[in-house]
Amino acid sequence: MTKNKAQANQRLPDLGRRKFLKVSAASALAGTLPATALLASGTAQAIETRARIVIVGAGAAGISLASRLTKAIRNPDITIIDAREAHYYQPGLTLVAVGAWKDVNKLVDKNERYLPRSVKWVKESVAAFDPDHNRVFTHSGTSVPYDYLLVATGVEIRFDLVDGLNPNLIGQHGIACVYDTPEHGAATARVINELVERGGKALMTRPITAIKCAGAPVKIALLTEHRLREANTRSNVDMHYLSAEPALFSQPDINQFLYEHMPKRGIAIRNRHELVAIDPGRKHATFRTEDGEITEDYDFIHAVPPMTAPSPVRESALAWQDGPFVGWLEVDRHTLQHTRYGNVFGVGDVVGTPVGKTAASVKAQVPVAVTNLLARIQGQTTLPARYDGYTSCPLITERGKAILVEFDYELKMVPSFGFINPYQEHWVPWILKDKMLQAAYQAMLRGRV
Ligand SMILES: Cc1cc2nc3c(=O)[nH]c(=O)nc-3n(C[C@H](O)[C@H](O)[C@H](O)COP(=O)(O)OP(=O)(O)OC[C@H]3O[C@@H](n4cnc5c(N)ncnc54)[C@H](O)[C@@H]3O)c2cc1C
Repeated sequence: MTKNKAQANQRLPDLGRRKFLKVSAASALAGTLPATALLASGTAQAIETRARIVIVGAGAAGISLASRLTKAIRNPDITIIDAREAHYYQPGLTLVAVGAWKDVNKLVDKNERYLPRSVKWVKESVAAFDPDHNRVFTHSGTSVPYDYLLVATGVEIRFDLVDGLNPNLIGQHGIACVYDTPEHGAATARVINELVERGGKALMTRPITAIKCAGAPVKIALLTEHRLREANTRSNVDMHYLSAEPALFSQPDINQFLYEHMPKRGIAIRNRHELVAIDPGRKHATFRTEDGEITEDYDFIHAVPPMTAPSPVRESALAWQDGPFVGWLEVDRHTLQHTRYGNVFGVGDVVGTPVGKTAASVKAQVPVAVTNLLARIQGQTTLPARYDGYTSCPLITERGKAILVEFDYELKMVPSFGFINPYQEHWVPWILKDKMLQAAYQAMLRGRV
């Protein structure tokens, strides 16, 4: 047994690894199952309606919504719109990027494997939303009318907002980016390997906008540092974490942990440094700081672009028009119903709410949106289900260890597993992430959890 596991087991006298795998198999996508989920799991009676339901986006949220609604409505009229046929398991990107998962194909799946047969699939993107006339327009100009709309488009990765950066550069000139396709994950693994072999100066960045899986930039920094130690080349690399934000993490206890932990591992932290330009030929990166722009040279850069809602959402009447979430989908943070268009709901990364943007949030949000949509269809004036902001991130600190960070809108930690300390590194969250999360994610797509 390794020293780390022995230490972990000392803190965990009653639960061995094997027993843990058994008891937690059903709950790997951390978070308790809201009572509202009963509706879709078949214990409540399916309702009757001929309402036309349109879902935009067939990612984690869109497919889970389609699956649950199909179980909750007899003979439903559901249309899903998304041009992408492949389904990417994004939580595995970090594992591919740092070489923990060697097979990139583990990330690639097909939407058709999860979409219920009765759901009509329009294989196009939505170009425009017209909520005043209850319709969306696809890129080919087709108008798709609806009675109820569910928006689940995820985010748009804004490479265009960093001067000189574009997705084709990932994997070249020392440029890495784990967001957000399997190709980017594999290309990031290649440039991390180059860093491990050649050494040099490494910059890890984090943009100013909300991003999906806000822990991923930190995870890449910590896991790269661990790779270097494993390869005995740590002393060849000078590591810097430059974040545009004033803090490292939104949850204060984890923020404090990182401020102590990263310097101990030789990673210098600089806040309020926003990556605004990159010169791949010269390997220069320019950051906006409070004291003006500064330029740093680098041998390796993990460049995380800003993220926004996709332009058709951002530029539509459905977006928040002002305030902290301007441009993101305007929903009530608890009911997930649009605050101005009552027949519109939002789920997943696209919603303008204070925290979220993880698959774990999607798992908590989908039953809420489904329950509230059905209540609305049935003419109820009060929406019964509430989302409390639950989000979760297995914050991997090194291969074999992680902290299972789970919190809500109040930034209060809400641990699912009482037997592990939610503020300490432990092997259990690593096993969850490495071995169990994908099966739980697939069960979520099928509307089973
Ligand atoms: C590197 C990385 C690591 C992550 N790690 C974790 C983790 O450990 N744990 C965790 O819980 N979560 C993690 N996540 C986050 C998780 O993957 C996302 O939060 C989740 O996929 C969000 O689901 P979604 O349906 O909102 O968006 P997506 O799954 O991204 O799907 C959005 C869909 O909308 C479609 N779309 C976009 N625009 C349009 C349009 N105009 N018309 C039609 N369709 C459109 C897209 O093609 C896509 O299919 C990670 C993400 C990344 C990138």
